[in-house]
Amino acid sequence: MALVTEKKIKIAVNGGINFGAKLNGKQLVVLAKYLDDGEELELTTFQQIYIEVPEERKDQVINEFEEAGLSCYPVGKFVKSLRTCNFCKGSEHEGLPVAKELNKRIAGQPVPFTLKPAYTGCPIGCGEPMINDIGVMKMKDTYTLYIGGKSKGHDARVGTKIIEGLTPEELYDVAEKIISMYSEQGKKREQFYRFVSRIGIDEIRKRVGYSEESLD
Ligand code: SF4
Repeated sequence: MALVTEKKIKIAVNGGINFGAKLNGKQLVVLAKYLDDGEELELTTFQQIYIEVPEERKDQVINEFEEAGLSCYPVGKFVKSLRTCNFCKGSEHEGLPVAKELNKRIAGQPVPFTLKPAYTGCPIGCGEPMINDIGVMKMKDTYTLYIGGKSKGHDARVGTKIIEGLTPEELYDVAEKIISMYSEQGKKREQFYRFVSRIGIDEIRKRVGYSEESLD
């Protein structure tokens, strides 16, 4: 009798936004359930694990993963989950709840090309916000936003500071507006840093309701 193999789909998982990118035993066991002999997990540089799961049972598997405390995201042309620092100075002090809320609002949104957002809880910048598409740095009680960084390639570049002094609500609003603008006005497969260069920092700042005075 011919063996029927289930079609698989790749999803990204991690332990959610927390103190460091960690997984517990229960989470590892539930992931291992979906690894056939010879299959491997792929660990990405963006604090995610790629795993292939049966396409037909995708929703059921995601429920099972989420019950074990894993967060699941689509793979491909979507906003990735927020890369973060380890919040070494404490949750409230470094804005862990803000990072969680930001991730909830933006991760998984469809965009013309995979978009990598990063967050860091203080100016030391362990979360590498400066070299990712959208970077957030907590500065005392407010948030500074950078856009257009690029970590890979011979043309790697540091992002540009676009707005500073943001409250959490302002940060969510601006990040969502910039991502919507990119979704709607980005060309097919146009990378975010190219989109930022094409539209221009000043114009993007203006379109999300801020002026150059929003930089001290
Ligand atoms: S960015 Fe600051 S809060 Fe975050 S891990 Fe580094 S030193 Fe700690």
